[in-house]
Amino acid sequence: MADKKLTGQTALVTGANSGIGAGVAKSLGQAGANVIVNYVSKPEDAEAVVAEIKGYGVDALALMADVSKEDQVQAMFKQAIDHFGTLDILVNNAGLQRDAKFHEMTLAQWQLVIDVNLTGQFLCAREAIREFLRRGPRPEVSKATGKIICMSSVHELIPWAGHANYASTKGAIKMLMQSLAQEYGDRKIRVNSICPGAIQTPINTAAWSTPEAYNSLMTLVPYNRIGQPDDIGNLAVFLASDDSDYITGASIFIDGGMTVFEGFSTGG
Ligand code: NAD
Repeated sequence: MADKKLTGQTALVTGANSGIGAGVAKSLGQAGANVIVNYVSKPEDAEAVVAEIKGYGVDALALMADVSKEDQVQAMFKQAIDHFGTLDILVNNAGLQRDAKFHEMTLAQWQLVIDVNLTGQFLCAREAIREFLRRGPRPEVSKATGKIICMSSVHELIPWAGHANYASTKGAIKMLMQSLAQEYGDRKIRVNSICPGAIQTPINTAAWSTPEAYNSLMTLVPYNRIGQPDDIGNLAVFLASDDSDYITGASIFIDGGMTVFEGFSTGG
């Protein structure tokens, strides 16, 4: 049985009906948090995640919102706070890729990735911080007044040819996350990033769905396995709990060693 480190707290996870977001939402629920499962499409997948989380004995609620739309984000936070009373944890997870060679990238491909991956994190973090400031400390459930976890990527560090729009958003999230940690540390709001390497989800099916693709991917991963959403869920629980109370402004890489640059393992 998982440790119930988050009992009495409420978490909102964006893009929680698929992949990493679904894994994180379930891990937070197993750790005792009530969970808002945000989705933008496939409500049936969101309801399946909600049903699984409710099976852990906590409350869960699926809420639709496109994270890149201010009115939808504000309506979602209002519904969430009306239902649960307040919010303690935000996991800014929703993201997408629209890959193209840079000289062929359309403005629409560039803009959509910026809107969802970066502006979406801005809009949700702003609403969460407004709620944390309004509500103030809740020492009975956590030492921190609020916790924000930004889903970044190894691509906040590793440049990515053919994915300049995506890598640009992840580099920007590092500065957004650190600026918020700096601005709100004195109000006891902790803000950190998770930087996954290769995690097996629908976003990167092409990288793991054939043996050739998988073997090629593994040349980048010293630990020699693809990551699972649970791996990220475990880290999210740690970052949301008081176990990490002295961690803020940090990017935590969880990548089977991808950022130790396997290509140099034979001396370069
Ligand atoms: P995924 O495609 O399975 O999940 C992405 C989720 O975001 C989906 O639920 C999708 O519906 C949602 N989403 C997309 N646009 C949205 C919008 N406008 N509003 C609300 N939700 C929206 O992919 P994933 O791998 O689980 O990705 C989750 C996060 O993890 C992303 O931010 C991604 O950049 C990051 N990440 C993934 C990997 C990996 O290897 N899978 C590695 C590094 C970082």
